[in-house]
Amino acid sequence: MEKKAFVTKEMIEEIVKTYPTPFHIYDEKGIRENARALKEAFAWNKGYKEYFAVKATPNPYLINILREYGCGTDCSSLTELMLSDAMGLSGEDIMFSSNETPAHEFEYAAKLGATINLDDFTHIEFLEKTIGYLPKTLSCRYNPGGLFSISNNIMDNPGDAKYGFTTEQLFEGYKIMKTKGVEHFGIHAFLASNTVTNEYYPTLARTLFQLAVKLKEETGAHIKFINLSGGIGIPYRPDQEPNDIRVIGEGVRQAYEEILVPAGMDDVAIYTELGRFMMAPYGHLVTQVIHEKHTHKEYKGVDACAVNLMRPAMYGAYHHITVLGKENAPCDHKYDVVGSLCENNDKFAIDRMLPELEIGDYLAIHDTGAHGFAMGYNYNGKLKSAELLLKEDGSVQLIRRAETPKDYFATFDGLDIYEKLDFNA
Ligand SMILES: *Cc1c(COP(=O)(O)O)cnc(C)c1O
Repeated sequence: MEKKAFVTKEMIEEIVKTYPTPFHIYDEKGIRENARALKEAFAWNKGYKEYFAVKATPNPYLINILREYGCGTDCSSLTELMLSDAMGLSGEDIMFSSNETPAHEFEYAAKLGATINLDDFTHIEFLEKTIGYLPKTLSCRYNPGGLFSISNNIMDNPGDAKYGFTTEQLFEGYKIMKTKGVEHFGIHAFLASNTVTNEYYPTLARTLFQLAVKLKEETGAHIKFINLSGGIGIPYRPDQEPNDIRVIGEGVRQAYEEILVPAGMDDVAIYTELGRFMMAPYGHLVTQVIHEKHTHKEYKGVDACAVNLMRPAMYGAYHHITVLGKENAPCDHKYDVVGSLCENNDKFAIDRMLPELEIGDYLAIHDTGAHGFAMGYNYNGKLKSAELLLKEDGSVQLIRRAETPKDYFATFDGLDIYEKLDFNA
């Protein structure tokens, strides 16, 4: 599929008058269309709810758009819970799917009435000791071990993943929780990441639905929901076929009708915790070419770096690049597009065929709307960029300002060095 940027050179030339590059910009229209399509794809399930994985894009302005489509939040840490709390979410609008969870985070989640999704068998006792009781509704994360494959294609390796209860622990855990007064149960599993196939959710659903029937039969537990978690991917590469969320929703429905309904479990709610699928395609990192270097390779240096988008450096991930204003020019030049970190993995693209790049060109790096800004860090003392929202009416809203040196040095506040820093430098 051809990948087109949702901004043009003219738009960026206007925006940079107020907000200099680099910045992440998000497309409200795209976010809304996708959220609507997801909601429709699962409308057949009465209790369906998407809990947006906050870690993917922890920006309240963007999450508020999703809330209009009935989404809650999926949190994994104190600050993600704090953000949800500040946004006015509580109770069944928050899923707390954490692991190696500190005691005070369980306390806070319980105080908010969030649905707690336990990552491990020992956390049953840990939670009870920490908050003094077990909530009426509790969920457990499942890890079947082994390899997870679809039609002989290995998708991922749950047996090597740190998360979740084993099958035996799950049955044992349900029994214990039941004797301790838990009344409603959830099952959660995340067995493969960034799946670009319509088969992932339906295959996962079948596994979890069969498990749910057995759990109900053997333990008598009331299964309130099954959480398919995240993992629906996006086509980062132009040659990939995007997922069709309607086909995915229909595949899950068929499994539901075949497995849960005959077992008398037609009240089970389906939950999802999608992050990437909800936001990734609707974000661009916009950066400007500021240097060129002709040595053993042809380099183009840009004003963004891996702190703004870590995925290429960390995973060797492909992110498509559109050279704004040269959308129709032939890709007849080969470049490494590089950032300014003192790290040789700080490359947004390696040996990439692009139109001829000149200093001053603006690049839109695609699919940065999830696990983009969020993974940012401050290595080399680099500062995080602003986040902007391209609204449906074409206007641009600042939804997070860029960091300043003051932010970077804020943790020295109160120490003598702080007074000596020259913030006008
Ligand atoms: C990361 C994560 C998600 C979201 O994953 P995506 O790949 O962005 O869909 C959902 N649930 C949990 C528990 C996660 O850790």
